[in-house]
Amino acid sequence: MWLKIKPQEPLLLGVIRPDAQFLPSLAYIPGRILRGAWAEWLLRQRTSSEEILRQVTRLRIGNFFPAAEAAGLRYALPLLMSAMECKRHGGFATEPSPNRRGHGIVDILLPVLAYRLLEAHGARFSVPFLIRCSQCDDRMEPAEGFYAVYEIRGVKHHGMFRPRFHAQTKVALSRHRRAAAEGMLYTPSALSPYTPDPVRGGSTRVVFIGRVAPTSPEGEEAMARFREAVSRMSIGAMHTRGYGRVSVEEATVSMPSLGERIRAFNELFRQLWLDIRSLALNPEALPQEPKGIYFSVDLLSPGIFRDADGIPTLKPTLILEGRRLEPILWMTRPDMASGWSTAWGLPKPTQLAARMGSIFVYRWDGPEDSLLTLLEALEQEGIGERRDEGFGECLICHPFHLEVEEK
Ligand SMILES: [Zn+2]
Repeated sequence: MWLKIKPQEPLLLGVIRPDAQFLPSLAYIPGRILRGAWAEWLLRQRTSSEEILRQVTRLRIGNFFPAAEAAGLRYALPLLMSAMECKRHGGFATEPSPNRRGHGIVDILLPVLAYRLLEAHGARFSVPFLIRCSQCDDRMEPAEGFYAVYEIRGVKHHGMFRPRFHAQTKVALSRHRRAAAEGMLYTPSALSPYTPDPVRGGSTRVVFIGRVAPTSPEGEEAMARFREAVSRMSIGAMHTRGYGRVSVEEATVSMPSLGERIRAFNELFRQLWLDIRSLALNPEALPQEPKGIYFSVDLLSPGIFRDADGIPTLKPTLILEGRRLEPILWMTRPDMASGWSTAWGLPKPTQLAARMGSIFVYRWDGPEDSLLTLLEALEQEGIGERRDEGFGECLICHPFHLEVEEK
């Protein structure tokens, strides 16, 4: 189920270290923060720690991504590591408001995949793989952040989320003496509940959209309790001082179905294969078409993986129907996964993780119909370790890969 979280107050989201002078908020709500708020709510009801643990593991709470609230909002997601924008005029060419438009953001995953696989088949090219801006011919660089898709009068638009931060210097209170500790000032930089309206100008509300899924038969009831808890608790840091109140409602998200995404991914890949093959110096030596079915696993939260020997790795191996699948292409960067144990209030050890927005492409040589069921489960359950803490949340064939033109 998709939910929408609307902040009523500024939010301070992220890991707050006691020695930090600046407390910058994240621009999205990690699922673990929501789970923490739920656990704290239960604790206030004098629920035992075993019961808290039992209740909060009945739901898988994903990350919630920000968007400017406006009519026609379809979904909000992080940009992936394959997204590139013009160095000179970055940003979407399909922003709803003309004065915000850049030269466009492209997704290079499928062109790179076709180029690399053709090269592996012995293709020779007279030029290296290089993508330039189609409007000004300047170089492209990785684009980062969160974006949302809006459908306005039947036309699809992309809008980058533009966070606003409030900075306010406060005097730190000593936890023990309840007094202002001398000289200790800190600047919390909180995420505003308002953001520029991408359609009409002026300001609009920020909303966060994410997935929550039951993991047990009691999930339905847990969902109601979770929603109640999050609406009553403040989320994030410093929630006793005018930060972190939110409301929760159901969200209507419309994204192509998994089956449609896999079909479109493979169709576009075949098309690019033909196009790039025709650019090779030796096209007749190369296969007419790619073999097998291809799909990507796109991380919506950091992923924690180990190889067959138990060594931490950034490249996940999938086991589907007893077959081991290794990624044939990946775009990833390292991150550190930390965490906080709800049960005993202690930090968990940090682990190597693949960053949010990482992409792994696999090839499947088995039958098509069994693949859909397997990938549906993967998209629901996530990938890798510590999934109950929100690590390894993923989409299969992220909709961003499905259009190759600048958008
Ligand atoms: Zn350009």
